[in-house]
Amino acid sequence: MQARRPTVSPEGSVASCDGPIGTRSPLPRINFEREFGAASGALPRSYQRRTPETSALYAVVRDNLETFLDDARMRSTTGTGYPHFIESEFQRYLDCGILARGFARVRCASCGFERLVAFSCKGRLCPSCWGRKAADVAAHLVDRLLPEAPYRQWVLTFPWELRFLLAMDRRFLTEMLRVFLRTLFAWQRLRGRRAGIQDGRPGAVTFIQRFGSVLNLNPHFHSLHSDGLFVESGKERLSFVPLPPPTDEDVQFLVTRLAERLGALAQRRMAQAQDRPPWDLEDDAPVLAAHADAIHLPGPRLLPNIEASTSEISKPLCAKVGGFSLHAARTVEASDREGLERLCRYGLRSPLSLERLSHDPDGQVRYRLRKPWIDGRTEIVLEPIAFLRRLAALIPAPYTNLVRYHGVFANRSRDRFRLPLPPAVEPANAPLPDAGSLDPEGGEEVAGADSATPIVRPRRLGWAQLLRRVLNVDALICPKCATSMTVIAFLTDPPVLRRILEHLNLPSSPPLRAPARSPLDEVGLFADEDSGDFDDGWFDQESGEENARAPP
Ligand SMILES: [Zn+2]
Ligand SMILES: [Zn+2]
Repeated sequence: MQARRPTVSPEGSVASCDGPIGTRSPLPRINFEREFGAASGALPRSYQRRTPETSALYAVVRDNLETFLDDARMRSTTGTGYPHFIESEFQRYLDCGILARGFARVRCASCGFERLVAFSCKGRLCPSCWGRKAADVAAHLVDRLLPEAPYRQWVLTFPWELRFLLAMDRRFLTEMLRVFLRTLFAWQRLRGRRAGIQDGRPGAVTFIQRFGSVLNLNPHFHSLHSDGLFVESGKERLSFVPLPPPTDEDVQFLVTRLAERLGALAQRRMAQAQDRPPWDLEDDAPVLAAHADAIHLPGPRLLPNIEASTSEISKPLCAKVGGFSLHAARTVEASDREGLERLCRYGLRSPLSLERLSHDPDGQVRYRLRKPWIDGRTEIVLEPIAFLRRLAALIPAPYTNLVRYHGVFANRSRDRFRLPLPPAVEPANAPLPDAGSLDPEGGEEVAGADSATPIVRPRRLGWAQLLRRVLNVDALICPKCATSMTVIAFLTDPPVLRRILEHLNLPSSPPLRAPARSPLDEVGLFADEDSGDFDDGWFDQESGEENARAPP
C-alpha cells in the first residue's frame, strides 16, 4: 500500500493523516504541521520549531565554510589549517536543528497532534545551543548553589596588549583570575573585620567571556560576588552577613591595586614566554592570525587609549588604571532571584546574537551593535570570510571551563556544603510530570531547608522546561487541546528519516555546503579592512607575551 499523502485541513495549515506511514496497521489519527509552526502559529506563546537553516548565520556558514577552511590551509606553510575542533564546531552547527539529521516525535495522547523536534548540536559556536546551555547553568546556579543574598557583578577588563596572550594561554588567564579574586576577597574580608566580622568568608562565581560587544576578541571576567560575607553561626550551616556597598573610592583603590599586581604578573609571563613560545609559528599560523585580527575592532582601528595610566572615574563604581578597568555598579537584591538568574545568563551569553546579524545579497555580513560605538557607528560590516575568522577566534577551545567557582562556592571548599540553601524553586518552575522523558539525567533529591520533606529538583533542566523558563513557551503542551505531549520515538536512521520527511513534504536532505571558491576568482575576498596580515608587526610585537600552552 502506498503511503497516503497528507490532506490539508480547512484552515490550510494543519494536515491530517488517517494511517501510519507505509503500513496497513491502524494507528490513531494524527495531525502534523505541513509547515513548521503552522499548527501553532495562531496561538501566542506556544512553541514553534526554530528553523536554523533560514538564519543569516546559517547561510553565511553554509556558503563560505569551505572557502574559509581553504583560506586557513593556505595561511599555514604546512597546510594544516585550523585545529580540528574549529572545523567540527562549524559542521556541528550546520547540522543543528536540521530534521534531516534526526528528530524526536512528540505526540499528544488525547488528540493525536504530533510534532517533530530536531536534534541540537550542543556546540560552542551555535548561538541556540549556547543559549540553552547558558540557561541551564544559570538555573542550576540559582536553584542549587547561590544562597539568598544580595549579589554584585564585578567586571574586570584588560589592556588590549594583554588580550592576545589571555586568549591563547589558558594557564595565564587562570592565574590572572586567581590574583583578581584574591585581591577582591582580601578587601572584602578587611571590610568585614572593620565591621566586626571575624573570619568572614567571601564567595564568587566567575564567567569568563572571550569577546567584546563588536565581535572582537576581548577576554574578560564577569565575577558574581555575594555583597557580604558568610560566617559561622554556631549551627550546622553558615549564615550570611551583608556589608555596605563599595564606594567610588573603593573601586578606584581596587583597580589601582589590581593594575599593579596583574601588570607585574603579566610582565613576568611575557618575559618567560619570550624564550619558549607556546605555539608553533607554522602549524598554528591560521589561529594566531585569526586571533591577532580579532583583537582589533572591525573598521578603522580604534584601540583603548593605552597611555592613560592615571586612574580616572568615568561612571559610578567604575574605574580605569593603565588599561585595566573595573566595573561594580550592577547589583541584584536578595529577593530578586529572577534578576539573579538573568544576570547569570548575561555572564554566560553567546558571543553572537542571531537577531542582530544579517547579510546583504552580495554576501557582506552586517552586525548591529547593542549600543552605538564611541565613534557613533551602530553596526559593523564584514566580508564573510573575515566574519568567520572572527568567529573562529571567539570559539572557546574544547575543555575550557568558562565558569569558575571560588571562595565558599569553590568545588573543593568544605563551606560549599554548609551554605544556606537557595530558596525553593517557584512552583511555576517545578518540573513537568512528563518532562523527564527528554531529560535522561533525571532528578535527584535535595533536603528541604528546614523541613524533613525532601524536594525533588532536576539536576539539569529538560529541554521543555528550559524553553518554558527562558521564553515562557511550553513545547510539550499540545497546542490543540492543551494537554501534555510525550516523546514517542527518537529517529536517526537516514532511510527512515527520509521516508517520514518526504511523506510530510518537508526537506529530507540537509542543506549542502557550498564548494570552496578559488581566491583567484575573487580578488579582494580576503581584503577585510582590518585584516592585519600575520606579519604586519602585531605578532612580532606580541611574541613576547607567550606562555606555556595549557594542556588539552
Ligand atoms: Zn492534543
Ligand atoms: Zn546547536
